[in-house]
Amino acid sequence: MPISLGVEAVGALVNRFPELCGGCGLCEKACHKEAITMQIKALKGMWRRLPEIDLNKCIRCGYCAAVCQSGAIKQGVDTLIKMLLEEKPKYVVFYCNWAGLLGKELELLKNSLPQGCQLLRVMCTGRIEPKQILELLRQGIKGILIFACPLERCEYQLGNFRLTHRVALLKQILKDAGFDSERIEAVFERLDRDQVEAKIKKFIGKIERLGLQ
Ligand code: SF4
Ligand code: SF4
Repeated sequence: MPISLGVEAVGALVNRFPELCGGCGLCEKACHKEAITMQIKALKGMWRRLPEIDLNKCIRCGYCAAVCQSGAIKQGVDTLIKMLLEEKPKYVVFYCNWAGLLGKELELLKNSLPQGCQLLRVMCTGRIEPKQILELLRQGIKGILIFACPLERCEYQLGNFRLTHRVALLKQILKDAGFDSERIEAVFERLDRDQVEAKIKKFIGKIERLGLQ
């Protein structure tokens, strides 16, 4: 069933705002399920190049939203980040919903985490946008740790693989801007609860030694 921009797909965590679309086609390229095709359509009396999404093919991975720079396709992560910032955290730990034991272990860890450390569950680490990470840093977050699934185990096939590229890019951007690239770290292993706790504490210890205000 093809749908047009402007219709919210049930359960997709993706809201679409066609009037913002610039017709770049990046979402079509990002979709590894070939669920998006760019079409010429009329919108408010003008012919526009807009994506059409086939919900039968769409697996709700959110990769289209992660690459859309205009805000025409959005995902729930923005809202989650907004809520999280209200807690005024110093550290943010993202983790994948599908990370199995890791997810549960992190939930149990919530109360024993160092002060100022906030967890944020996402449906796939491939949904985390570079601009979201940069915004967190701009808002004063000292360090961002991301627990992804092992590379060959992504629920949506490619999410954590994409994350590897994004983290590399973000580290370079930080470096070029004179910041410490160690402030972002991604982990692609299955860890038990003790290992996760140790990893978070080690990461925070490393960032604290940077002496950031
Ligand atoms: S990536 Fe965003 S701006 Fe580009 S075509 Fe898709 S919806 Fe439109
Ligand atoms: S959510 Fe994933 S599968 Fe669905 S249209 Fe976007 S990129 Fe394609």
